[in-house]
Amino acid sequence: MSCALNLSPRALEILACRELPEWQSWQWQLAHTLSASDFGIQDYPKFPLRVTPYYATLADLNAGATDPIARQFLVAQEEFLPDDFSPDPFGETAHAAIAPGIKQRYPDRILAMMNVTCSTYCRHCTRRGLLGQACRADLETLIAAIQARPTIREVLLSGGDPLLLPDEEVLRWVNALTALPQLDAVRLCTRTPVVLPMRWTDTLIEALATSGRVWVQTQFNHPNELSPEVQTLATRLARAGIPVSNQSVLLRGINDDPAVMAKLCAGLQRNRIRPYYIFLCDPIAGINHFRTSVQTAQDMRQYLLNHLGGLACPRVVADLPDATHKTDV
Ligand code: SF4
Repeated sequence: MSCALNLSPRALEILACRELPEWQSWQWQLAHTLSASDFGIQDYPKFPLRVTPYYATLADLNAGATDPIARQFLVAQEEFLPDDFSPDPFGETAHAAIAPGIKQRYPDRILAMMNVTCSTYCRHCTRRGLLGQACRADLETLIAAIQARPTIREVLLSGGDPLLLPDEEVLRWVNALTALPQLDAVRLCTRTPVVLPMRWTDTLIEALATSGRVWVQTQFNHPNELSPEVQTLATRLARAGIPVSNQSVLLRGINDDPAVMAKLCAGLQRNRIRPYYIFLCDPIAGINHFRTSVQTAQDMRQYLLNHLGGLACPRVVADLPDATHKTDV
C-alpha cells in the first residue's frame, strides 16, 4: 500500500486481512488494534492511539491526517501544546457522583460507567483525560441507587465503551436493569456501530431486543463512516426493533462544512438512525484544535434547517457544566 503515513510491517499485514473471515470477528479486531508505532508517529502516553483495523480502513491513509476519519484517531502535534483548559471541566470525577462510576445530572436519568476502555480512542473525546483514572460502576450499587430515586426513568450505560465487555456481562447488566419496572429505557452509549460494527452479532442483537426497552446511542461524525457494514447493521437493528440515535460532535476539519454534515444527517436517516444532537466540541485540555466558533455552529444549524426535514435535522447544542438541560446554540 502506498501511504503518506509510515505504516509498520505489522499494520500492513493486519490491514491486508480485510477479505479474510477473521476480519468479521470483533474479538480479532480487538486483538489487532493499531497503535502509534504502527503509523510511525509519536504517541500521546496519557491517551494513546488505538484504532480498530476496520475503522482504519475507512480512512484514506494516503491523505494522512487531512482525512476526516484519520483525523479522528491519529495523534496530532497540537495535542502536545499547552492550553488553558481543564481535563475535567464538568467535574465528572468530583461532583454529581452517587458512587464510583455512577452519577446523576438530571432528575430523570442516571449514568453508569460500565467500562473504562474503548476499541478506538477518538482524539476529540471529552473524557480523554479521565478514562485512565475512571472507575467502573457496580451493578448492585446502581440498582439500589435507581430504586432509591423514584424520578429516574432512564439509565445510560456508558464508559469507555460498554459493548467491549463480553455478551454475558452486557446482558447481566441489561437484563437486570430492564427488569426494573421504574425504567422506561436503557440506553447503551457506544461507538461500536461506527468503529466496530462486527461487535453486533445476531446473538447479541436478539438478546438485547427481548425487553423492548434497549436504545442505542452512538456517534457518527462523517458520511464516510456510513460503510456497507454499517448499512447492514442499521437494517438489522431496525428489524430487531432497537432504536438508534446519533450524537455527532462538531469538529474542525472533519465535519464543520455544512454540506458534509447535511450529507451525514441524510445518510443517517436513510439508515433509520435518528440524527439527534450535534454537540459543540467541549473545552477540554488537548482538543482545542478541534473546536469551532459558536458562529460556525449557528451557521451549521441554519443550513441544516434550510436543507433537511425535521426528522433528519438534529439539534445543535452545547453541554454546559451547570445547565439542567442541553443548551441550544
Ligand atoms: S468511544 Fe466515546 S468514550 Fe471512547 S474515546 Fe471515543 S468518544 Fe471517548
